[in-house]
Amino acid sequence: MRFDPAMEIQDDLVFGEYGDVNPSITDSSTYTFLSARTMEELFDHPIEGCYLYSRHINPTDAYLARALARMEGAEAAQVMSSGMAAISTTLLQLCSAGDHIVAEHSIYGGTYALLKNVLPRFGIDVTFVDMADLDAVRAAVRPNTKVIFCEGLSNPLLTVADLPSLGHLAETIGAQLVVDNTFSPMILSPLRLGAHVVIHSLTKFINGTSDCVAGCVVGDRSFISAMNDVNSGTSMLLGPTLDPLRAASILKNLHTLHLRLKKHGENALMLARRLHELGVRVHYPGLPQHPQHELLNAMRNPDFGYGGIVTVDVGTKVMAERLMMLMQDRRVGYLAVSLGYFKTLFSAPGHSTSSEIPEDERAVLGVSDGLVRISVGLDHEMSRSVRIIEECLLDLGLLNVRYLPVAA
Ligand code: PLP
Repeated sequence: MRFDPAMEIQDDLVFGEYGDVNPSITDSSTYTFLSARTMEELFDHPIEGCYLYSRHINPTDAYLARALARMEGAEAAQVMSSGMAAISTTLLQLCSAGDHIVAEHSIYGGTYALLKNVLPRFGIDVTFVDMADLDAVRAAVRPNTKVIFCEGLSNPLLTVADLPSLGHLAETIGAQLVVDNTFSPMILSPLRLGAHVVIHSLTKFINGTSDCVAGCVVGDRSFISAMNDVNSGTSMLLGPTLDPLRAASILKNLHTLHLRLKKHGENALMLARRLHELGVRVHYPGLPQHPQHELLNAMRNPDFGYGGIVTVDVGTKVMAERLMMLMQDRRVGYLAVSLGYFKTLFSAPGHSTSSEIPEDERAVLGVSDGLVRISVGLDHEMSRSVRIIEECLLDLGLLNVRYLPVAA
């Protein structure tokens, strides 16, 4: 039977302490024991239903972790206080001084900066490559490569990672394929396609309400347990704990993720199609013109569209700024970073979320000064929003091709 992440969430029923349909929030940092011996044992190994201290695990965090593990078809998960916490603790768990990581070059700027500026300080080498070029990935591999790191759909260029091929390569060299699936929750199930560890920034689509920052790591039980080892686990010892109040609210939002993704995807596809018709330089993996459209079709779970992010290249920084300001003035959405919110958000990655990547490298990658990333919201009447965006482009002189009537 085909794996369906939305069915996994549907089947994740929790009966709370008092029969509550939303599990009770455990508002405690520490837990009592009836026997001193049990406390000692718990330091040695987990005991079902027994909690020690909320930096280790809190029952509310555990409910969210369990649901996320189900969504990814995994044995276990650990929720964290941010997506960056999830990425940094995972990489520090998997790599030691003297190890090497092959990473996608065009990734979220924070991740790039971690790989470029922080991990080398601890003796971990990183080679950045174009993940769409499998020969380049193979050529970058070294005997000490421990991790191949990519984003399922990359930020901001929306490159699709060939997860089965990368997973196979990782297996062959004894490395781990770590996939940041923030842009494509439910759309891609990386662990079923060959990845070993999946990361999400829960801040984005999974939470969907732009009211908190959170993350998670999903993988097999032995890896998540190793991250929680009291002597050597990076999650345990670096302490990126998620507040249980937030875990409870994210868990509620997770149950509407499948519906939101469908709508984000429909709206984004409508916008991308129209911009393509108008001759605007638009990237969207749902367009047949996208270089990895067929690859994504071969890998994706079919019910959740192609994601909510569309990027357009309007040529220059000035034009990008004018377009974003005009779209905000005309109430298309907000000029703001981040993504996956129910309202439309737009920002210019070259001068915000990818600014950590030096200008010359951005130019090679195609993260141009005129690139605008649009996180398409859940607009009820998307055709009106598309029309307004079209008028903004027209008024700024950015539609220099023949003006097509709006499709019926
Ligand atoms: N991964 C991707 C693809 C992102 O876009 C971001 C943030 O924008 C992160 C990770 C970091 O997530 P957080 O801000 O929750 O730490």
